[in-house]
Amino acid sequence: MNLAANHGRASDCIECKECEKACPQHLKITEHLKDVSATFDVHRNFPAENREAELKEEKSAQEGV
Ligand code: SF4
Repeated sequence: MNLAANHGRASDCIECKECEKACPQHLKITEHLKDVSATFDVHRNFPAENREAELKEEKSAQEGV
């Protein structure tokens, strides 16, 4: 299941903090979403339908193939 395919990206968060007010664990959700966005939204096609091809391309580039 790829929730980002149907529910937006971490970078879509508008920092309203409604989720933080409701969170019983007092997680800093907006801060975590910034980390998630920095990791995943940098991929040009994320959420990619063809993510495997993108990873293969990146691996080839790293190996100099
Ligand atoms: S702060 Fe929480 S509730 Fe508000 S937009 Fe971001 S993720 Fe959604």
